[in-house]
Amino acid sequence: MAQIEVGILGATGMVGQQFIALLTKHPWFKVTWLGASHRSEGKAYRDAAAWRLPVPAPDDVSKLVVEQAAPGHAPKLVFSGLDASVAGEIEGAFADAGHVVISNSKNYRMDPAVPLMIPEVNADHLKLLDTQAAVRGWKGRIVTNPNCSTIVLSMALAPLRQFGLKTVMITTLQAISGAGYPGVASWDILGNVVPFIDGEEEKIQTETQKILGTLSDGSVHPHPVVVSASTTRVPVHDGHTESIAVKFDQTPTAGVVIDAFNSFRGRPQELKLPSAPAQPVVYLTERNRPQPALDVNRDGGMTVTVGRLRSCPVLDYKFIALGHNTIRGAAGAAILNAELMHQEGIL
Ligand code: NAP
Repeated sequence: MAQIEVGILGATGMVGQQFIALLTKHPWFKVTWLGASHRSEGKAYRDAAAWRLPVPAPDDVSKLVVEQAAPGHAPKLVFSGLDASVAGEIEGAFADAGHVVISNSKNYRMDPAVPLMIPEVNADHLKLLDTQAAVRGWKGRIVTNPNCSTIVLSMALAPLRQFGLKTVMITTLQAISGAGYPGVASWDILGNVVPFIDGEEEKIQTETQKILGTLSDGSVHPHPVVVSASTTRVPVHDGHTESIAVKFDQTPTAGVVIDAFNSFRGRPQELKLPSAPAQPVVYLTERNRPQPALDVNRDGGMTVTVGRLRSCPVLDYKFIALGHNTIRGAAGAAILNAELMHQEGIL
């Protein structure tokens, strides 16, 4: 099968680098175009990017010259890891020019015409694309993936929707790679916990409702679950850990909750998409897991691990969840969205 050419906006950043690493041997997509800021424009990628991943940057991409982040030369399909301060304008311009943009940024996530996707959870929300062009006036399309903490939470909650989710309390312990590169100063994070991540709590509280919501009459009706989030940054390289408590309409037994986590599957598993983990949510039985140092790279970083399910004296149950923030929480999530769209005949 001929490969589909793809471009990467924000190619030099943390998420951009993950795109390049994950797409190196992708069976369907081939990176042929890179865009970033004027700081990188005109330079070979190897000179423009401060490569931070523990695998070498692929030779063919390292040689590409980074271009201005503007439509013109890019292929039709473009993954975006742009800084949110510029993503709104640039991604909009690409969609306007007829590109299909798969975005990691917050700018269009809550737009009623834009799918906010986790393919295992809400593959049907892609239907929003049927009317997006008419609503937004774009020749192309924009599809988004959620905030990195929200993806982990929503994947852990999706198997529990059947019990009637009412209330969720979550406290995150988020890795420094989630703040981009160079991100948080070492002086601020080493030996420390920072109890503030700008805008993060609001994203978790609102995006979760849209993701778990139902599609009817051409729009997404948010799930009524009430989410209260507190977010912290901790000195961990990769992997957002989340302490979650939930209240249900009907309280299942602990065994039924664990079965629900382990048996959860979605459209990517049905279609056997190249980036789909065989089991998207895995319950670990060891009493001190999941841990970022041990569990974050499970199934190439695409699996969310959960553990420590116990009863909660305030709500019904509490547990710990963990996911890789730049893979399942960003680049891997966007690639899975594109794989689903390709398989569903949308690209
Ligand atoms: P980052 O490391 O700071 O990278 C930002 C990228 O945006 C760089 O490629 C940068 O290019 C480019 N950029 C900045 N200003 C630009 C401009 N004026 N014109 C064109 N390009 C510009 O950030 P990141 O962590 O990769 O995050 C990227 C996006 O993904 C953000 O919206 C973030 O919120 C979201 N996200 C991040 C994570 C995560 O875990 N890191 C997870 C989910 C979502 P230069 O190198 O040329 O400056």
